[in-house]
Amino acid sequence: MRGFSAECRMSRFSCGQKVVGVLLLARLSSVVAVAAAIPATPSPSPTPVLYSPQTLAELKQLQQAALQSDYAYRQVAHLANNIGPRLSGSAQAQKAVEYVAGEMKALGLEVQLEKVMVPHWVRGEETGALLQFPGQAANTTQKIVLTALGGSVATPAGGLTAEVVVVRDFDELKSLDKERVSGKIVVFNHSFDKQMAAMDHGGEAYGQAVVYRSDAPSAAARLGGVAALIRSVGSAAYRLPHTGQTDYTADAPKIPAAAVTEEDADLIAALVSQGPVRMRLVLTPQQLPDAVSHNVIADLKGTEHPEQVVIVSGHLDSWDLGTGAIDDGAGVAVAMQVPNLVKQLGLRPHRTIRVIAWMNEENGLRGGKTYVRDHARDVANHFAAIETDSGAGHPLGINLVGKPELKLFLVPIAKVLENSGAGLLAVREQAGADIDPLAKLGVPNFSPIQDSRFYFNYHHTAADTLDKIDPHELAENAAINAVLAYGLANVEQPLPR
Ligand SMILES: [Zn+2]
Repeated sequence: MRGFSAECRMSRFSCGQKVVGVLLLARLSSVVAVAAAIPATPSPSPTPVLYSPQTLAELKQLQQAALQSDYAYRQVAHLANNIGPRLSGSAQAQKAVEYVAGEMKALGLEVQLEKVMVPHWVRGEETGALLQFPGQAANTTQKIVLTALGGSVATPAGGLTAEVVVVRDFDELKSLDKERVSGKIVVFNHSFDKQMAAMDHGGEAYGQAVVYRSDAPSAAARLGGVAALIRSVGSAAYRLPHTGQTDYTADAPKIPAAAVTEEDADLIAALVSQGPVRMRLVLTPQQLPDAVSHNVIADLKGTEHPEQVVIVSGHLDSWDLGTGAIDDGAGVAVAMQVPNLVKQLGLRPHRTIRVIAWMNEENGLRGGKTYVRDHARDVANHFAAIETDSGAGHPLGINLVGKPELKLFLVPIAKVLENSGAGLLAVREQAGADIDPLAKLGVPNFSPIQDSRFYFNYHHTAADTLDKIDPHELAENAAINAVLAYGLANVEQPLPR
């Protein structure tokens, strides 16, 4: 597994501190190395100062202010309720760009809209029905609750009718003769590991199941399947289908692809085990020409190193079924809160704090990719990047991506965050999809460690709505963003990279 053992998680970052302490002696900055190598040399400061007493006091102020403020909640409420779903290329996505830009200008930030060309996929009609199945009453059908996967092609105008074949996983599909699959609708009935999610490993459970959403359609098409249905990638059974992007590969025809609910996957599998099942599937999505959209970039200029940038971010686009409250209006809102609090408290960051509302995380990652391309010559000045994109649940601490020595730089920040139960530090492989291209170029990446037990109940469903956000837990995430972003903006030493 990635990160800490369960034991270490129980004791917050104490295990990590010991491990990192050893690593650090060998590898931290030259100041430590010199002090260790020449112990006789008198030194006024045996270890480098990471945060001035003033900065540490300001971090505590920021934390308290964040926990008491409803600014972030009001921002996500506006994005979810007043603007609504914000799929790339939609009028709502454009409205959200204008809204966030306006709010950041109102705080006095320097705002740029950076152009991003985004895929423009539009959902259409989507229905499924079993027309023939064992034990059926005369002249009846069984409704199947489903939703098209992002990027799916359409069925023929009148729909597509075919026999159904069910497989548990890719291995079972491979074990079937081509004629068992050819001409059929292939249902991938692969379960999401709910127990793993219940133990706060929701991200890992998602990672195991989501490969079916991305890869199943082309896998079915390679064997002649005419449509692919996956069991929804989610942790709750309220007969809600979970959408999300699928990825067709070039070596297979594009076939219509949808997610059925967990309950409907079980229903189909049960009937198919009894005898032949025929199904009609109607999907009418459209892939329109790429559209012009934008990343919103808002700078609160640093006083000492304005050219050095600490990014704090979330993604502004969302899926179209819900209102994009937890994915990822919440992430944008807690990023917007950072300059709001810094301004409110009259603080002056040494480096520039750059809020970014990314466009097109969900179905293309064009925002993150375009940013790195457009800022390629300036990557060295990107001091750090933070993204919040795992909902709005209670945060336990900070994920970090980069050199293990980074952890020492975070210990004083974690100490402040311990007050709100967020003192854990975990080294990860990825912190956020939009900032990951920067991590690949050596920019340290960070994200809050968020409660993942319930996030995938609602993720990419019609139930991703504002009521799923607890205002206090959202404020706790804002506190992490504010303390971490301001701390990184004012840290007295360069971060290892
Ligand atoms: Zn997201």
